[in-house]
Amino acid sequence: MKAEIIAVGTELLMGQIVNTNAQFLSQQCTAIGVGVYYQTVVGDNESRLRQALETARQRADVIICTGGLGPTQDDLTKDVLAAFLNRSLIVHQPSMDYMTEFFRGRGIAMVESNAKQALMLKGSDPLPNDTGLAVGVALTQDDTHYILLPGPPKEMKPMFERYGTGWLLGLMGGEQPLYSKMLKFAGIGESLLEHKLIDLIDKQTDPTIAPYAKEGEVTLRLTTRAGSLSEADAKMADTEREIRERLGEYLYADRDVPIEQVIVDRLIELGLSLSAAESCTGGMLSDMITSVPGSSEAYHGGLITYTNRLKHALLGIPMELLEGDGAPGAISERTAREMAERLLERTGTDFALSVTGVAGPSPSEGKPVGLVYIGFARRGGETVAIETKQTGNRELIKLKASKAALYLLWK
Ligand code: ATP
Ligand code: MG
Repeated sequence: MKAEIIAVGTELLMGQIVNTNAQFLSQQCTAIGVGVYYQTVVGDNESRLRQALETARQRADVIICTGGLGPTQDDLTKDVLAAFLNRSLIVHQPSMDYMTEFFRGRGIAMVESNAKQALMLKGSDPLPNDTGLAVGVALTQDDTHYILLPGPPKEMKPMFERYGTGWLLGLMGGEQPLYSKMLKFAGIGESLLEHKLIDLIDKQTDPTIAPYAKEGEVTLRLTTRAGSLSEADAKMADTEREIRERLGEYLYADRDVPIEQVIVDRLIELGLSLSAAESCTGGMLSDMITSVPGSSEAYHGGLITYTNRLKHALLGIPMELLEGDGAPGAISERTAREMAERLLERTGTDFALSVTGVAGPSPSEGKPVGLVYIGFARRGGETVAIETKQTGNRELIKLKASKAALYLLWK
């Protein structure tokens, strides 16, 4: 099978962004045995995109477009392909439902142009967007296969890897496509998780169960072959139920979303507010939370009290606790607890998190690299402080410590 990749976007032509999508898609296609013969770049322009499709149709069996699935005026890939293939656009209801819920949860009015993102060509297969809103499209007409993917790499890559490649493989081998489902866990290590599922993992055939851990996250990927997404869901249901029975208390999401997103959504839903006092993470926790759109509804902000002097000056933590003879020190459960409680008093939020520890590379207060204490205070409730041991280099310890704080809150 010969493929052509069409990247749509005036930004690409003007040299404002690099066409990394084409590189990724070429690598992926090559890996599954689909040869890429051409890569084309075209601006956000109806007639030129149409010409590009016309040319591609004459020389490729598979045409993969990226970009232009968004809500704005210049996003016209679906419209152009629909007109090109003489098909109408219909609403993909699950995407529409998800999007409606997405905006409702954030208390933002959904403007009509957003609805565009839930459209697909009549008779096409939807490619779910696990990390964004615009649904992808796959279809075959007159022996040419078309795949439409969003432009943002963080949406395009998972969509193609999880659904697009399976769809293509299905065409090639006559085999059914592969579908995957991600289960994400917090507060449990990879080895314990594996231990609890070892009998399932050992006898797995269909679906397959693959645990993997990265940057303090533990994820299980269930994969199966099926004729459609709903059939795949049905095939995975028993295994998923069994996993939920054993590990339900640690499961925080059944799709590939980061913990900070789940937390912000939950806080907004419950109308609760959060603040954070950070030492060793230096603001990374705050950064992660505020990366979630709409987080300002729940996250009020925080303090970076890196030195003992600022822990004292801004949070009022007694110097004797931080530096006194035989005192617990700044890196201690006591200090984590105090940081959270005193921040809660000062910010008046419902919850406050704190992080204090040793990011490395050298020990501090005679305490080992990776030792991190997390505190969690809540209005009218008991404060919790826990000791954690993180591994990796400085950057990784900061990242894992930030996630550990979010996991503690999630629990
Ligand atoms: P959006 O909903 O963000 O509008 P979209 O599917 O309409 O998504 P575009 O508007 O074409 O996609 O592009 C959105 C962003 O995605 C671009 O600003 C750019 O950052 C990134 N992007 C688009 N195409 C590519 C590409 N070929 N390579 C790398 N990045 C890209
Ligand atoms: Mg766009």
